[in-house]
Amino acid sequence: MIRRDLFNLFSGREAPDAPRPWAPYELVTFLPDEEVRAALVQTGLCHGRDEDLAFVKAAIGGTAFAKSIDLRRHGTQLDKATLKAMNVRPTAMLTAEYLAILTPAGLADPLEAAQTLTSAYLGQIAVTNSLGRAEHAGVEFVEVIPNNMAAGACAACLKLAEKPVPIAEAPKGPLPECPHPEQCVIRSRSILI
Ligand SMILES: [Zn+2]
Repeated sequence: MIRRDLFNLFSGREAPDAPRPWAPYELVTFLPDEEVRAALVQTGLCHGRDEDLAFVKAAIGGTAFAKSIDLRRHGTQLDKATLKAMNVRPTAMLTAEYLAILTPAGLADPLEAAQTLTSAYLGQIAVTNSLGRAEHAGVEFVEVIPNNMAAGACAACLKLAEKPVPIAEAPKGPLPECPHPEQCVIRSRSILI
């Protein structure tokens, strides 16, 4: 084995195979707006307008352990009469600002919607970090694992699973062409060579 320090000393240059200095992977805590928008809109529960993104980021952005209640309690709490009129239990934590981000489908069950939206948001960050960490460690390709939720894998998902996908192109969330995006759980496995 060549002593790299001696090689450098005598040759006056870096050894050709000198490893790059190691740096830890830096966790992502915020995502680009367009990724947040896609993740929220695909649930069918949130409008995904700029003001909706701003609301979600203010309520649960930057918190690794955000809970759905953080989304529901951001803003001004609705009074009991309003909650009753909405058929929601009077002790529920719900704000007018939170309701404003919801589509009619979201308004049909705002408590459940908060759960789904929070999972979608945090899931997007988690996938970004797991792919980012793998890429940081030198992984170049991933193998897509087709969705195993009740709705089953969609055609787009099965196609992606056919051959290794460059890590930069690995899907981070439901596929845009998926007919059941609320159940499109795309995962992938690093290919180590
Ligand atoms: Zn799908």
